[in-house]
Amino acid sequence: MDDSDIQCTLCSKRDIQNAAVIWCAVCDEKLCQSCNEIHKYLKISSSHEVTALDVYKKLPSFISSLKQTCDSHEEHFKLYCPAHREPCCYKCTTTKHKTCHGFQTLDSLIEQSQSQFLDLECTIDELNINIETVFNNRTAALIELDDQVLDLAMHIKKTGEKIREKLESNEKEILQQLSVVHSKYKAIFENTVEELQTMKAEIKSLQKNIEEMKEFASEYQFVLGSQEIRLKTKKEKDNFCKYFENDHQLSQKNVALKFTPGQILNQDIFLGTFGC
Ligand SMILES: [Zn+2]
Ligand SMILES: [Zn+2]
Ligand SMILES: [Zn+2]
Ligand SMILES: [Zn+2]
Repeated sequence: MDDSDIQCTLCSKRDIQNAAVIWCAVCDEKLCQSCNEIHKYLKISSSHEVTALDVYKKLPSFISSLKQTCDSHEEHFKLYCPAHREPCCYKCTTTKHKTCHGFQTLDSLIEQSQSQFLDLECTIDELNINIETVFNNRTAALIELDDQVLDLAMHIKKTGEKIREKLESNEKEILQQLSVVHSKYKAIFENTVEELQTMKAEIKSLQKNIEEMKEFASEYQFVLGSQEIRLKTKKEKDNFCKYFENDHQLSQKNVALKFTPGQILNQDIFLGTFGC
């Protein structure tokens, strides 16, 4: 709203459009320049204190909209009723406020309010400082909270990474051990199977020799041949018996490989715990 939007109250009553420039607190009227001249020199209003309209407009609206005259009796407010917490005129004390007590004159209130207003200003200033202090404190706490969460999240992530790295290296190590043991026993078992294969072939050949001797050999050939076969049989038997001697035990023993999972699987929480 600019200044020209507010019209002179007196001119408006005569259907004349004139922008108001001052406000009289006593008359509670907004006046144009020419009405102000008359207002200034009229005996009844010459002592009225006026305020430039642009200053008046800077007041908070709940202040500038305060009424100065009584609507019911068209008289200036002179009293203040503490029960209704509102100003009133003398006539009001016999009507709306007839049962009210402890009226104060507005003049005495104005006198008191000078010092009370200073107190009010002090109270507001103090409150402002206190709010500012707590505000700064909580703002700092908010920033610190965010920082803490960021740090912790990083720490938790790094711990997880370290555990995964350790698990991976542990897994590789165990698989490596398994592979070494596998190679060792595989070589022994393969060697044994190969030797037994040879023995089986040798025994089969001896059995064949015996069948052939029984069928075709002369007595002389049978005697000497039997000796030869006996020697070969003893050799195979000795070879076979070696598997049951101490230093050959591995070649006929089954191997039970075993893996025991670490304690970590028995724990519900192995990354860590969080608390505050
Ligand atoms: Zn006017
Ligand atoms: Zn006036
Ligand atoms: Zn009244
Ligand atoms: Zn009252």
